[in-house]
Amino acid sequence: MLEALFSTLQSFFLHPEFLVPTVWVAFGCVLAWFLLSAKRHHAIDKKDLKMLWKTHKQFNNCSAKTFEPIMRGKTIVGYTCECGYQHLQERPLVNFGA
Ligand SMILES: [Zn+2]
Repeated sequence: MLEALFSTLQSFFLHPEFLVPTVWVAFGCVLAWFLLSAKRHHAIDKKDLKMLWKTHKQFNNCSAKTFEPIMRGKTIVGYTCECGYQHLQERPLVNFGA
């Protein structure tokens, strides 16, 4: 088991052409993790919310005049449009805050 791992590692270093994609994959994982974790902690402010709602109105030909923010604790997590449309920002997998 450990020997197999070691020989895999060794082959990476003996063959740089394997090493390069590995580094890219690792880099991609870190980047994905970074983006996901940034998103997880991203709270929408009122300005963003209004912009999101306006985008929805354009895309859905919605003529609603108002919307209600959806709150989770003290954080805005989305909105409910007058037309019934709901937008929820990605919810955290584990809720550390509340
Ligand atoms: Zn709407």
